[in-house]
Amino acid sequence: MPTRLPRRFPIRAKITIGALAPLFVACFLCSLTGLYLIKAKIVNQAQEKVRTDLNSAREVYQNDLDRIGELVDLTCGSPFAATAFATGDRQVLAQLLIPLQQKKHLDILTAVDAQGRVLYRAHNATSAGDRPDCDFVKRALSGRSVTGTSVLTGQQLATESPDLARRAAISVVSTPHAKPLASTEERSGMIMVSAAPVRNASGEVIGALYGATLLNNNNHLVDKIKQIVYEGVKFHGTDVGTATIFLGDTRIATNVIASNGYRAIGTRLSEQVYNRVLLEKKKWIARAFVVNDWYFTAYEPILGLQGEAVGSLYVGMLEKPYTQMQKNVNSILYLVLLVTSLLGIAFSSIIGALLSRPIRELESLAHRVALGERDLQMEEPAADEVGDLARAFNQMTKALSRQEAEINLLHRGLELKVQERTAELSEKNRQLLETQADLARAEKLADLGIMAAGVAHEINTPLAIIRGNTEVLEMCLPPDHGNREEVEIITRQTERMAKIVGNLLAFARQKSLDRKQVEVHGILDDILAQIGHQVSLERVKVERDYDPDLGAIKGDADQLRQVFSNLILNATQAMPQGGTLTLSTRSLGPGAGCSIEVADTGTGIAPEHLEKIFTPFFTTKDSGTGLGLSVSYGIVKDHGGDIQVTSSPLGTRFRIILPPEKPQSVILE
Ligand code: ADP
Repeated sequence: MPTRLPRRFPIRAKITIGALAPLFVACFLCSLTGLYLIKAKIVNQAQEKVRTDLNSAREVYQNDLDRIGELVDLTCGSPFAATAFATGDRQVLAQLLIPLQQKKHLDILTAVDAQGRVLYRAHNATSAGDRPDCDFVKRALSGRSVTGTSVLTGQQLATESPDLARRAAISVVSTPHAKPLASTEERSGMIMVSAAPVRNASGEVIGALYGATLLNNNNHLVDKIKQIVYEGVKFHGTDVGTATIFLGDTRIATNVIASNGYRAIGTRLSEQVYNRVLLEKKKWIARAFVVNDWYFTAYEPILGLQGEAVGSLYVGMLEKPYTQMQKNVNSILYLVLLVTSLLGIAFSSIIGALLSRPIRELESLAHRVALGERDLQMEEPAADEVGDLARAFNQMTKALSRQEAEINLLHRGLELKVQERTAELSEKNRQLLETQADLARAEKLADLGIMAAGVAHEINTPLAIIRGNTEVLEMCLPPDHGNREEVEIITRQTERMAKIVGNLLAFARQKSLDRKQVEVHGILDDILAQIGHQVSLERVKVERDYDPDLGAIKGDADQLRQVFSNLILNATQAMPQGGTLTLSTRSLGPGAGCSIEVADTGTGIAPEHLEKIFTPFFTTKDSGTGLGLSVSYGIVKDHGGDIQVTSSPLGTRFRIILPPEKPQSVILE
């Protein structure tokens, strides 16, 4: 029986993998492409936006500078200012400067004379007479208006105003990645400053006015930048956009919120950014970790009057919204991947089941065919490869059935031929055995014949002498002689002996057949006419059933007469109480010979005797010789015929079949 190997990788799994693999690859590529697009396009665009945001921030910064510059310029250009500076009257200067300082929120508004000595400080009226070491004042006194960013030391700030120095003070926080901390407190102050000369009517510089705004702890500007550039957009409660002003590497104004929830003033720039922006005076535009989160950042140096980097301006955009967007896109892609995978598994499972069902059916049918079933036909599915396979299978089983039917037919034909041949062989065998038996019988009869002939020959002569002398003796004895009876007994016994000798000689049959035209019916009638001398026919009814078509046949008339005589004599002897003797003849057709039957209604032959009756000397009669039937058998066989017997307790029937002409005569020597 065919064995089934364990299925390690069924076709259904192959189809599922085949369907899902490209799907997975496609989704994986989509995911990669999506991530690349987010990174390459959106992130880069975000970074690029921050670059432009920095430009906007610079504009805002510059606007504030310009506002101070215009204010100082306008004030210096007024005739009232020239008069006030010319007189040096503090009250007049106060009338000019205090409203201006308060109205325009200037932290410093100071008037100096042509030598640079302070005439009046609107923000600190109590101090005057000192000579501030300020390049801006020097430039203004040289006749040029100047606006920009400058850094005042703590001392300078204190000189301007103790309150200003206090406001400027910032505790510096130790920040990882920043350069080593020089001091834990920043006392310097970064200011936006503008200075302009004040001229008299003849155009001589009689003094200068400078105004400034302190940037330390002043978040007004960074909040304005945030508001203008980022419009206050928030992500999960956190400002997306931030702006910072650095003094050196320290945040002095910012809206970046530290982890404590306050503005991260006092935190510091990483050393890497510091080196690039403040030392190399170049922009830094890249992703950076700011205070406690990642930002897309842009830094640029804020330059002083001499072109030195005094600090930097920063804008940054929180990276979280973009990473969140990236996560969302990833989630969507994975969700799409999951859904399409589930759909793919479902569809491929269905397709796999549809495809594998006919294949499994085919496998089962093939097993059944292997086990000997025939005429199995598979339902032919669609016109695809599986359908072709099913059709090929159906053709194969049909061809197999046809070939088996042909083989069976041939087999049956062969069997019939074998049976025929066997029957022929049996028939031949039977004929051979019959012939062998005949031969054996013939040989036996021949031997017996030789012996019988010898005995008969030896007895015949003395018997003839005895008979002759007995006849003489009988003739010589008078009829009433007392020994006459004994002599008559001798005569009868010698006649009987002569008859036995005659039978023995007939049995030996040393003479050949004298074939002539023989009238069978005539011979039978003769025998019936003469047999009365031997047996009494008084109580025997004789019936003749002669075939009129039976003409003369060829044979030895004397010998056939002897055969018929023996049969008729036996028949009459079998009916001692009387009965019917029937003689029948039949012509068996032109060229087919004839049959002669002698039937009686006598005692019949016992079954155990039937085989022996043709054996010489077998007799059941007291006075029988047992030679009649064996002699008859030999004569019929010499004629090429056959002798058959059927018997029952109701009677016996002998049938002699004679051929039309004996083909060959066998003479027993
Ligand atoms: P015989 O007549 O001298 O006995 P046969 O050879 O003629 O010798 O017959 C042999 C035996 O066959 C007979 O003894 C008899 O038993 C039996 N037989 C022959 N013909 C008949 C017959 N018509 N009816 C009954 N028995 C017969």
